Amino acid sequence: MNIGILGGGQLGRMMALAGYPLDIACRIFEPAHESSAAQVTSRLQGEFDDYRTLFEFAQGLDAVTFEFENVPVNTARWLAERVPVFPPPEALAVAQDRIAEKTFFASLGIPVPPFAAVETRASFNDALSEIGLPAVLKTTRFGYDGKGQAVLKSHSEVESIWQLLGGRPLNYESFVPFDRELSIISVRGRDGEIVHYPLVENAHREGMLRRTTAPAPQLTTGLQKKAEEYARLVMERLHYVGVLAIELFEVKGELLVNEMAPRVHNSGHWTIEGAATSQFENHMRAIAGLPLGSTKPLGSAIMLNLIGQTPPLAKMLAIPGAHVHLYGKTPRANRKLGHVTLLGLEASVVTEQAGRLEALIG
Ligand code: AMP
Repeated sequence: MNIGILGGGQLGRMMALAGYPLDIACRIFEPAHESSAAQVTSRLQGEFDDYRTLFEFAQGLDAVTFEFENVPVNTARWLAERVPVFPPPEALAVAQDRIAEKTFFASLGIPVPPFAAVETRASFNDALSEIGLPAVLKTTRFGYDGKGQAVLKSHSEVESIWQLLGGRPLNYESFVPFDRELSIISVRGRDGEIVHYPLVENAHREGMLRRTTAPAPQLTTGLQKKAEEYARLVMERLHYVGVLAIELFEVKGELLVNEMAPRVHNSGHWTIEGAATSQFENHMRAIAGLPLGSTKPLGSAIMLNLIGQTPPLAKMLAIPGAHVHLYGKTPRANRKLGHVTLLGLEASVVTEQAGRLEALIG
């Protein structure tokens, strides 16, 4: 079985690594010279609108997937005329536009924070009076890791925030005073079978994920069932195949959906050692039309991202229960260079080990 992956970052690398034991060979398509995934599998270098190289890429592939959600939808659609593309390009189209995404969730009856599309200064004023303050303004497209967004707390900031972000299509969203951020990773097979991992709790700093605790502490069956229902609604409507991540806010025991990622997700990295089947293997199984594997957690896990720099490997490995993943990337500020999963049978021990690791990370 041969699978093509659009995008050559760490997610592609971990997908390719999960394919090997199943004799699934991956081929990467990535524009940049440096590629984390290309270190472990074959790749073609080309721009996403270089159809000649894309044609060459598609030869002999059984399916194509993507690890990067800003792959142009037209590229995914063009490939889908030649080889099955999973998840469907439509999922990319929805996820790439924050307004389309929130409208889609709302159309399925999934709770989202109050939001409004802002294009002009007049519509900004309308949103300001209808939704009120505090609010979060986000560029509709190409925002990630907290980029292209700002929190609007008071009327005195209106002018400066409009100077910063105005002129581009924006999503004006009510600021949610959430108790915590959660995410669910779900998988749908080609035959429609769906499995879900337990909800996890995520901590961000400067818009980037720093820490995932899995399963989420004090997870109730009710909360899990709600999140599973939302994921199922989304996947069934989109005829989805593969891994889907949905990010949520928990507010007073209720869930609001923030966004979805139609791909394997950073908050699912703990599953490599922490679940019976990893998100990467289940993604490969799904797109290859194979039965899905168990999502059962094997203990308590905390995943910490290594961002900008990495502590000495020997020091990290000296912590019992630490599983280190380095992505082979050149260190740069705010760049995800690796992650470490701490796994154990007792949550308190894992928390203490995570504290030791956090002291190294700084
Ligand atoms: P996003 O790019 O939408 O995932 O936003 C990045 C981070 O900003 C989220 O993980 C939250 O921590 C925060 N955030 C986004 N939207 C809201 C909101 N409506 N209310 C409060 N915090 C938010």
